[in-house]
Amino acid sequence: MSEIRIGIVGCGGRMGQALVREVLDNKAATLSGGTERHDSPLVGSPIRHPATGEESGLKVTDNAEKLFEISDVVIDFTCPTATRLHCSYAEKYNTAHIIGTTGLTEKDERAINTAAEVVPVVYASNFSLGVNLLFYLTRQAASLLDEDFDIEVLEMHHRHKVDAPSGTALSLGRAAAQGRGVRLEDVTDKVRDGITGERKRGDIGFAVLRGGNVAGEHTVSFNAYDERVELTHKATDRAIFARGALKAALWSFGHQAGLYDMFDVLGLPKG
Ligand code: NAD
Repeated sequence: MSEIRIGIVGCGGRMGQALVREVLDNKAATLSGGTERHDSPLVGSPIRHPATGEESGLKVTDNAEKLFEISDVVIDFTCPTATRLHCSYAEKYNTAHIIGTTGLTEKDERAINTAAEVVPVVYASNFSLGVNLLFYLTRQAASLLDEDFDIEVLEMHHRHKVDAPSGTALSLGRAAAQGRGVRLEDVTDKVRDGITGERKRGDIGFAVLRGGNVAGEHTVSFNAYDERVELTHKATDRAIFARGALKAALWSFGHQAGLYDMFDVLGLPKG
């Protein structure tokens, strides 16, 4: 089988660079190009292997539409407005779309759903194997522990992260809510400040830490009187997300149109 042509939008970003490295190192894939914002100083510069510095023969462009046209799959870890626009290109050029951007609004998610009617779209708040296992374990634990166990989701990320709580923390909250058979929207408690009153039974709380270069840490804790169960995942390098996204890109090729997540890619049970 010929190599799959993979494009990377936002190739100059932290995730973009990790993705360039994974794609260039993978024999089943060929890098079809990379884009950046129109005003980025990177536009026009060579795309190099981030570790070796070797030139790929490609240059960074600001033409995402062209990249979707010439690629089999495009991986997108950018920002919500860019991802929404990219969805229209995926649809137009029948290009599979792997989306890792977080902080998306309902409007952005509608654009994803529309594209997924035409092409395979893998959209996940976290592409690591370990975190997807954590989603699964959280749902299981929440289904086994009753409301005597208060559920709290704690996350920490690097100082540059712009959205909070992280997309992964929200997905963990959703997994816990699913395990309890409730809707996260009905039990979520995101902001605590001042005289908050007592914690409400059944709520799922969130706490956020920011600082340094932490790639991503998440803990779901189940707190009862006199005992606590904690499930934790710690990412030490964002390469784990890039590896998962590349796995999803290779998996998506040849799949039917539809909206998929990493449970589909990894074959984890959904129910
Ligand atoms: P970053 O700011 O380092 O990178 C984003 C890049 O996208 C930047 O280089 C920016 O210039 C570029 N960009 C913005 N608009 C663009 C456009 N219209 N066209 C082309 N490029 C554009 O951020 P990051 O740390 O790499 O994270 C990017 C996104 O991925 C964030 O939403 C983050 O939360 C998310 N993320 C998701 C996962 C996951 O597993 N799903 C993991 C890590 C990060």
